[in-house]
Amino acid sequence: MSREAELRADLVRLGALLYQRGLAHGSAGNLSVRLDDGSLLVTPTNSCLGMLRPDQISRVSPAGKLLDGDPPSKEAFFHLAVYEERPKAGAVVHLHSTYSVALSCLCHDCAEDVLPPLTAYYAMRVGRLPLIDYYRPGDRALAEAVRAQARNHRAMLLANHGPIVSAASLEQAIHAYEELEETAKIFFILGDRPAAPLDARRVAELETAFPS
Ligand SMILES: [Zn+2]
Repeated sequence: MSREAELRADLVRLGALLYQRGLAHGSAGNLSVRLDDGSLLVTPTNSCLGMLRPDQISRVSPAGKLLDGDPPSKEAFFHLAVYEERPKAGAVVHLHSTYSVALSCLCHDCAEDVLPPLTAYYAMRVGRLPLIDYYRPGDRALAEAVRAQARNHRAMLLANHGPIVSAASLEQAIHAYEELEETAKIFFILGDRPAAPLDARRVAELETAFPS
């Protein structure tokens, strides 16, 4: 099986897993991976991640031109911005999962990092989580806002919308996304009780021991 065929199969298999786990619903959310030639495989517009077919998955050029398959997600433009800014990124995951979206709807005092490092795995796989202002669906200005944060962050949260998470591989990006969703869930379970997130010294120790 070619590398592209393998990645198409991975998108189908892992998209179904995300749907079955309740992290994706309806036709919300999109996944992408970068091929060796720089083109991208992106889940198609109006598709359900639980019911993808390998041949319908869109292949687009680095400039966003459709090369093969169905038309890509209407949110593919911000995937492109992440890949442009992160040369080592091999995959991008964007879902509208419940706890992360709830977090994106809160008022936040500091938009630079909106979820505390409650656990070591969150700090290692996600790191800081900046909040990006709300944009209406399809607004291309969102791509520039994403681009500005993607330079320094592998994950970001779109206000009143949901997270974008990138990593070297699709599995790694999904693991990081799940870590983010579970940490958002823990954040809400803790509620107003005084929590003790990892302090700056402990986060720095993790960054040294496990550089991203
Ligand atoms: Zn979205």
